[in-house]
Amino acid sequence: MRVAFHTLGCKLNSTETAAIQRQFIAKGHSVVEYGSEADLLLINTCTVTEQADVECRKVVRRGLRSAPEASVIVTGCYAQLQPEEIASIEGVTAVVGTADKMSIADCVDEYLSKDTVTIRVRDVHEASFVTARSGSGNSRTRAFLKVQDGCDYSCTFCTIPLARGPARAMSIADIRIELSAIASERYHECVLTGINLGEYRSAQGERFVDILKLATSMDLPYRMRIGSIEPNTLTNEVLAVWKESKLFVPHLHMPLQSGSDRILRSMKRRYNTSMYTDRVQAFHSLFPDAGIGIDVIAGYPGETQECFEQTVEYLQSIPWTYLHVFTYSERENTPAAYVESKVPMAVRRERTNLLRVMSTERTNAFHTSQLGSRKVFIPEALDVDTESWHGWTENHVAVTMNGNFTMQKRPYHVMLHSVIGQKVLAFECGDEL
Ligand code: SF4
Repeated sequence: MRVAFHTLGCKLNSTETAAIQRQFIAKGHSVVEYGSEADLLLINTCTVTEQADVECRKVVRRGLRSAPEASVIVTGCYAQLQPEEIASIEGVTAVVGTADKMSIADCVDEYLSKDTVTIRVRDVHEASFVTARSGSGNSRTRAFLKVQDGCDYSCTFCTIPLARGPARAMSIADIRIELSAIASERYHECVLTGINLGEYRSAQGERFVDILKLATSMDLPYRMRIGSIEPNTLTNEVLAVWKESKLFVPHLHMPLQSGSDRILRSMKRRYNTSMYTDRVQAFHSLFPDAGIGIDVIAGYPGETQECFEQTVEYLQSIPWTYLHVFTYSERENTPAAYVESKVPMAVRRERTNLLRVMSTERTNAFHTSQLGSRKVFIPEALDVDTESWHGWTENHVAVTMNGNFTMQKRPYHVMLHSVIGQKVLAFECGDEL
């Protein structure tokens, strides 16, 4: 069977799609590009997009245009939360929730044999941890390893605990196996991912820091990056191992969401700005030229102009190099959706734009500050038109380097030369790693 996959949403979803693809291939099916002729379309959805239903309908329609006879299976967070809505989309064959997502390849014949739409959605508490690992595209550049899933927090704006269920984790023994497999598959970078990575806790009681210690002890031939981590879980012990190890790159992604303590309390975040400052400064003093990314939500209910200004002022006072700005949008069944003091959508958008401008300026300043320095660049994607490769340095500088398809995807020592738009032009220094 020819199967075409499409993923919406986060890296974790992409990682899981890649794992499902591998399962289909192991069963003798072939994976084809989404939008080409196919027998089955498999869509892994998300609820973070403002209009998940519109997005999902669009993707189904697009897939069916080139494969009108194909069956359609929709899975992922949106499938878990709104199965009936998806089942009503024309062309959908089956809707599969979180607990059965990773066994679609085993059950596909059953789903396709029915005359009516199958809805297989169970309580998320029944979902167990399923290993997922992916590469970036079909390259051997960067692997994403999911070591943790679900979340036990109850941030008021977030549907993830509803869609993905409680926190659960891969065992340390399995992480060891996966890290070795990534080494034998000759990847150059591995990104540890999870929904609430810093809350990693194995059934044997190991914590997140134990993953860092394990990886450090393994003499791995690639560099490692830590996905997003909550400020209250970035402990001094984690920082000490991170610094000591040399395996983990100087790049932190730590959600803030708001610079107003009142809003943070109302969101039920587990830190205030004082703790955030303490953590981000502790990281920055260990890694002064690190890339630091921050998630911010614009227009959360109750965010007055004063609260927003506090956020802007707060952001001006701490070190970071880029922002991921989300415009707040109501999510069904989350407490925030029912708060009265809503911010008008036009104001939410205006605040989003202001923060994005701030982000671009700070990123440009960061890139400029890096000029003349030597870094390690790993090419990920080739732009055939401009004959240039794009990728990242260890400290998360977006790099462009001249080269064509003959250039190997391996780490290069480069000198950062000049800023071109949102990227930095780099030249090879010559030392192969
Ligand atoms: S920490 Fe909060 S925002 Fe993040 S997944 Fe858990 S509930 Fe959602």
